[in-house]
Amino acid sequence: MALKNQYLIDLMETVKKRNQGEPEFIQAVTEVLETLEPVVEKRPDLVEAGVLDRIVEPERQIMFRVPWVDDNGKTQVNRGFRVQFNSAIGPYKGGIRLHPSVYLGIIKFLGFEQVFKNSLTTLPMGGGKGGSDFDPKGKSDGEIMRFCQSFMTELCRHIGADLDVPAGDIGTGAREIGYMFGQYKRIRNEFTGVLTGKGLTYGGSLARTQATGYGLCYFTNEMLQANGKSFEGKTVVISGSGNVAIYATEKAQSYGAKVVALSDSNGYIYDADGIKLDIVKEIKEVRRGRIKEYLDAVPTATYTEGCSGIWTIPCDIALPCATQNEIDGESAAILVKNGCWCVSEGANMPSTPEAIETYLSNGLLYGPAKAANAGGVATSGLEMSQNSERLSWSFEEVDAKLHGIMKSIFKACDDAAKEYGMEGNYMAGANIAGFLKVAEAMKAQGCV
Ligand code: NDP
Repeated sequence: MALKNQYLIDLMETVKKRNQGEPEFIQAVTEVLETLEPVVEKRPDLVEAGVLDRIVEPERQIMFRVPWVDDNGKTQVNRGFRVQFNSAIGPYKGGIRLHPSVYLGIIKFLGFEQVFKNSLTTLPMGGGKGGSDFDPKGKSDGEIMRFCQSFMTELCRHIGADLDVPAGDIGTGAREIGYMFGQYKRIRNEFTGVLTGKGLTYGGSLARTQATGYGLCYFTNEMLQANGKSFEGKTVVISGSGNVAIYATEKAQSYGAKVVALSDSNGYIYDADGIKLDIVKEIKEVRRGRIKEYLDAVPTATYTEGCSGIWTIPCDIALPCATQNEIDGESAAILVKNGCWCVSEGANMPSTPEAIETYLSNGLLYGPAKAANAGGVATSGLEMSQNSERLSWSFEEVDAKLHGIMKSIFKACDDAAKEYGMEGNYMAGANIAGFLKVAEAMKAQGCV
C-alpha cells in the first residue's frame, strides 16, 4: 500500500532522512502512516496542530555506557538505551529488551508501537522502550546481576513511578526485574512501583506472567467469534518458547486448540499429538534450557534446525511470539498455501510488510501486534494501580480485568475499521483507534 496524501508523503520523507540506518523504525512508522490516510482527510485539525509531525519524533532518547565485570574479572561494556517516546496520555511505559541485536532503531520502533498499544489498553500510559545489546544467554547469575545493577545505576536518574515505568521484554524476566528493582531502591532510597513484572513478594501482580500470552488468545478469540469461528479443534503453530509463547500455548489449549509446534532461535519442535506444556515449562522456566531438549522427554516429536521453517507446518492459526520480522512474504505465502486462515501476533512487528500484504490480499483474519499483544502492558498498568493503592488483587480479579480489556481493544479496532471504511482490517482499526486518543491529548496540550 503506497501513500497517496502529499502531506503524509512529505512527512515520511522527513522520517526517512532523519532516521537513516534504522529500517525497523521506518517500517513501523510507514505502516502506521499508511493506515492513517483516511484520518488525515477527515481530521485536518490534527494536521493543523502538528500532531503527526510531533508523534513520529521521540520526546527524549537516552543512550549510556553499561560497564560490568564478568566472572573472569574482565571489564565488559554494553550500550544502554531508554527512548521516552510520548507522554501525552500518561507516564512513559514499556519494556526493557536485552538481546545482542538491540540498537537505537530497534528501541525506537518498539517505543513508537508502544504509544499506540498503550493508548488502546484504555489505561493512562504513555509510550517508551529501553534495552541493551547485552546477551543474557550463557551468563551466570552473578554476571546478570552485575549487568542489571550497572544498567540501573544510570537508568534510575531517568525513571520514576509517575515519570517512566519500565517492564520486561525479550531477555528481561522476573530475575532481571528483581535485580534492577533492588538497585533502584538502594540508590533512590525509596520503595515505589517504578518497574512492573516484579516478584509477587515485593509488589508484583498475579497474572502478569501469563498476561501477554493469555491476552493474545483473548483478543484472537474475540476476532474468531466475530467471524463465526473458534479455537476449538483447530491446529495452531506458535513460534518462540519464551514468556509470551508459553502462556499463549496454555490459553489456546484451554480453548480446545491443538498446539503442534514451538521454537527458539536455533530451531523448532513439532509434536503431532499436541505440545506437552508442563515439559516445556520445566525446560524453559526451571532449567533455562533449549527447546530441542523436548525430544529427551517426547522422543516421538521432531526437531528441525533453523527457526523460519516452523511456518511450513500446516495449521489453521499461526501465533508468532518470538521477534520482529520473523514471518516474511515467502513464509506468509507458504502459510496460506497450507491452509492457514488466521495470523495473530504475540511478538512485536513479527510480520514484514510483504507478509501483511499476503494476509490481507488472501482474506486472512489478521490480529496486529499493537492490539493483540497489549495484554502484557495492560496488566502492567493494573500492577501500577495495585502499587499505588498498596493492595494486591486475586489472580481471578486481574485475569477478569485483562479479559475485559482485550475484549474492549478488539471492539475499538473493529469499530474504527468500520467507521473509516475498512471493515475487517483490524490493523488499520488498531492504528486509528490508538492514534486518535493520543492525538486528541496532544492537540489539547498545545505545541509541546
Ligand atoms: P522471551 O525472552 O521470554 O522469549 C523470546 C523467545 O523468542 C525465545 O524463545 C527466543 O529464543 C525467541 N527469539 C528471540 N529473538 C529471536 C530471534 N532473533 N530469532 C528467533 N527467535 C528469537 O521474550 P518474550 O516472550 O517476553 O517476548 C517475545 C515477543 O513478545 C517479543 O517480540 C516481545 O517484544 C513481545 N512482547 C512481550 C511482552 C511481554 O510481556 N513479555 C509484551 C508484549 C510483547 P532464544 O531463547 O533462542 O533467544
